[in-house]
Amino acid sequence: MRMDNERESANVEDRRGGGGLGGGRGGGISIGGAGGIGGLGLVAVIVISLLMGVDPGVILGQLEGGGMPGSSYQEEPQQQARAPGDPATDPSVRFVSRVLASTEDVWTAEFRRAGRQYVAPRLVLFSGGVQSGCGVAQSAMGPFYCPNDQRVYLDLSFFREMSQRLGAPGDFAQAYVVAHEIGHHVQNQLGILSRNQQAQRQSSQRDANVISVRTELMADCLAGFWARRANEMRNILEDGDIEEGMAAAAAVGDDRLQSRGGRGQVVPESFTHGSSAQRVQAFKTGMAAQDAGACINRR
Ligand SMILES: [Zn+2]
Repeated sequence: MRMDNERESANVEDRRGGGGLGGGRGGGISIGGAGGIGGLGLVAVIVISLLMGVDPGVILGQLEGGGMPGSSYQEEPQQQARAPGDPATDPSVRFVSRVLASTEDVWTAEFRRAGRQYVAPRLVLFSGGVQSGCGVAQSAMGPFYCPNDQRVYLDLSFFREMSQRLGAPGDFAQAYVVAHEIGHHVQNQLGILSRNQQAQRQSSQRDANVISVRTELMADCLAGFWARRANEMRNILEDGDIEEGMAAAAAVGDDRLQSRGGRGQVVPESFTHGSSAQRVQAFKTGMAAQDAGACINRR
């Protein structure tokens, strides 16, 4: 991707290195080393990722009100967003910030075309564990979007995970992850997320999984649409980027993740995000779409 000259977003909150859990580190939740995930933690990441799929958007309902026993969620004091362009910031933070800015530009324009206003979400960088508006989350759960506080939560170590363990390297693979989570924010702004979550609560587990897959594939499609529009606006894609994105979409397919698991069993009824083929197809649909409606009305 050609992102070096792109704008950085002002909506990145850096909560890495602790401080994200309010009460500090003694609160009964295991927090990995401040410098990232090592040894055992990494194993836990794999296992839990395999169990839950890579983005736990769907488990937020269960997270809510959960977290540490005996503690109730309290809104944290507003965190100061980092200053865009801070030269001390490491390259991966700047890259994520530029991707986020690109999603802001694309979705602001798309919403405006539809006579709506896009309210940009914040993106929280954390390491180990974090207190979100949807409960306490750990890195092992992978990146996620919390509709309650309209924030995307991301531990950058997940990108290493994708590259080294899931076989999905590359900057566009990372951008796809961010754009997928932003896709959930778009769904939230349009009322789709709450409608689907409501329907899930009234469904059997099996039907709830079907709704989850539909929600996730829509987010993949919206990520593809972002890529298309962002490239039309700023010419950011290079040869191989699209392939990286499709490889990433395939890498986080439920069948791929399940077959990498201990028993190697694939159980389609348990899918929450869609198969690799479905995720790739959804991404491609978005890439080919003339407008976002093609993702939202997709069957
Ligand atoms: Zn998702």
